[in-house]
Amino acid sequence: MNNVKNAQVAIVTGASRGIGAAIARRLASEGFAVVVNYAASSQEADALVAGLKAEGAAAIAIKADVSNADDVRRMFDAAEQQLGRVDVLVNNAGVLKTVPLADTSDALYAQTFDINVRGTFNTLREAASRLNDGGRIVNFSSTTLALNMPGYAVYNATKAAVEAFTHVFAKELRGRNITVNAVAPGPIATSLFLDGKTEEQVQNFAKMPPLQRLGQPEDIASVVAFLAGPDGAWVNGQILRANGGLA
Ligand code: NAP
Repeated sequence: MNNVKNAQVAIVTGASRGIGAAIARRLASEGFAVVVNYAASSQEADALVAGLKAEGAAAIAIKADVSNADDVRRMFDAAEQQLGRVDVLVNNAGVLKTVPLADTSDALYAQTFDINVRGTFNTLREAASRLNDGGRIVNFSSTTLALNMPGYAVYNATKAAVEAFTHVFAKELRGRNITVNAVAPGPIATSLFLDGKTEEQVQNFAKMPPLQRLGQPEDIASVVAFLAGPDGAWVNGQILRANGGLA
């Protein structure tokens, strides 16, 4: 196992599957001690942590609903107690349901904003006092924000808010040597993207970028690893659109 006392510590929210799980694997392979956060999928999170530990990494699973400020405080407490002070925060947890604005229920509006916006707000606010100087924050926007497709109004609004947080928070952390950036993926083959789409719809999305395929979670994990690692040190307050050239 990595020397837990010396390893840099990374929290990856929503890491039980999809892009977050790929980020957790990638950061663990680069020597980070990793917090695999999840809200409901404990079996997947525990299995991922067991796999990371079997490969010699330091990893723990922490259940916390990012939309709940107390949960987020407890997540930082547990990370500090078990792994050490946090160096990297990856705000990956997010939800998407595509519904025309006129048909969006109050409950869906609230849930999407609670997880995507309040969740990011909660972890950023906590990170302000808890992240080590020299740390890195990577938020999650989406390339859908540039596409303006029908059905994405509420989701895109949440990602616009995340981009706003990113630009301002990067400046508010002046003097701490902490970078704050966001990644805006194009379509990635995860359950968030695939669920509810026909094979034809999926293929249409796959043909959209000039690189002519869907992204894989590892494509985004590479970008996060760059922003979280030494090579990304001079990138700050930016939105990195990783989408095969789609937009
Ligand atoms: P996914 O496969 O659906 O995974 C979402 C993860 O978030 C799961 O681990 C889920 O865990 C967790 N989660 C959901 N609600 C949570 C909450 N309240 N607190 C903590 N964790 C929570 O999604 P994905 O495709 O990997 O998406 C990851 C991020 O990329 C999201 O921010 C998404 O908006 C963004 N994105 C994705 C795409 C794409 O095409 N896939 C494109 C652009 C941007 P539980 O099951 O335990 O809740």
